[in-house]
Amino acid sequence: MGIQVDSFLKIKVRGEIYIKKPIIGILANVLIEEGGRFPGMTRAAVSHDYVQAIIRGGGIPLLLPVISDEEDIRGQIEQLDGLLLSGGYDISPLQYGEEPHQEIDATFPEIDYHHIMSARIAAELEKPILGICRGLQVINVAFGGTLYQDLSQFSNTCLRHFQKGQRHVPSHSVEIIKDTVLSRILGQDSVVTNSFHHQSAKDIAPGFTVNAKAKDGIIEGIEKIDGVFIVGVQWHPEMMADKSPEMLPLFREFISVAGKK
Ligand code: MN
Repeated sequence: MGIQVDSFLKIKVRGEIYIKKPIIGILANVLIEEGGRFPGMTRAAVSHDYVQAIIRGGGIPLLLPVISDEEDIRGQIEQLDGLLLSGGYDISPLQYGEEPHQEIDATFPEIDYHHIMSARIAAELEKPILGICRGLQVINVAFGGTLYQDLSQFSNTCLRHFQKGQRHVPSHSVEIIKDTVLSRILGQDSVVTNSFHHQSAKDIAPGFTVNAKAKDGIIEGIEKIDGVFIVGVQWHPEMMADKSPEMLPLFREFISVAGKK
């Protein structure tokens, strides 16, 4: 599979056509060093799997560290052709009007603010968005949806959604809902995915629809119904893309759409 350069921006300079690869911003997390030489030091970090997946999908990855000034966040997003919302910590339930459940993990208000504002600004500027794991949850909360703070709130007989073993290994199946953007990208009724989450979307944000579900009914994907491309998946395709070619089209299509703007 070669890069489909036709779908990317073409720039004509003195009669020569140049291809500009789309620039894809990846939201960074704040990582707190627990040991090592600098315990307590915080680092702006993303898993390198995201970087590799964007490169393999035909884009130029650009990391966006957590900042808190709204106009500066807008300045970050304006540089991009598309925005990848990465995985990470639980979102504070205060963001969607709930008090914390017993099973909520550590939350970081400044990260939530940056990620939620980034999603809203990207949508306003009509920049395509791909949300992965927490990224799906950020999309849902940013546009008015809610989450199960722990899957036990949905059911005590859920499947195992936080798998053991290697990160690229698929552990449960996911039904892809027909006539969705995701179904057109993946071209399958069902896929097998890895799974590393203890939360999921509950009430879906207005203007969005469910595009994927696990067999136990847990929502595994959402997307915007009309307008700009906004797709979220609850699994980690970036961890699978190296070993599972069927996950690559998700990145290729996202990046291709980002390049058409
Ligand atoms: Mn799952």
